[in-house]
Amino acid sequence: MFSITPSHIIQHLYCPRFTFYEYVLRIPQFEEKQYKVIQGREMHDRKEIQNAGYLRRRIGAQAKLINCYLTNNLLRGEVDEVLELTDGTMAPLDYKFAKWEGKLYDTYRTQLMCYAWLIEENFGKAVAKGYLVYTRSKNYLLEVPIIRADLDAIRNAATEIRKILKKNWYPRATKVRKRCEHCTYRNICTQ
Ligand code: SF4
Repeated sequence: MFSITPSHIIQHLYCPRFTFYEYVLRIPQFEEKQYKVIQGREMHDRKEIQNAGYLRRRIGAQAKLINCYLTNNLLRGEVDEVLELTDGTMAPLDYKFAKWEGKLYDTYRTQLMCYAWLIEENFGKAVAKGYLVYTRSKNYLLEVPIIRADLDAIRNAATEIRKILKKNWYPRATKVRKRCEHCTYRNICTQ
């Protein structure tokens, strides 16, 4: 069975039709090659950074799991670190091979929400915040609150993806019409 990842959720939240075109009609987007290069660079960077114990101390983490592969009945994902905090909650921590530019991008926020969902289901503990480490800004540490409405949006997206794949259901177009201007699918999409 098709297994949903945070990347699928990110893409689906951008425009639900992407899920239909790419995984029902099997028309690929044209970004794969570039994505692979970025991934390779991130892997290299991650190896160098993942012993940053001082960051965990600053957060107040009392225990950690590294490269934690988690699943539930809809989603799967590998979290760089799952932290157990002193207040009894847990938190995902993810390294970004990027500079902190003063703005949290939706893709990163969505990824953390996916991880929060997976952690809550697998460990039975509340997740109230997540962390990002921007390795190209001297390991700038960003704390991100986990918002229940965002978690609901992630769950809804995963359920919708499953419905599209199972029933070949044609979803709504994005409401942000500007996204259509440079879209791979704009010539076949009935907006
Ligand atoms: S053209 Fe617009 S509505 Fe259609 S898939 Fe692309 S972004 Fe979505």
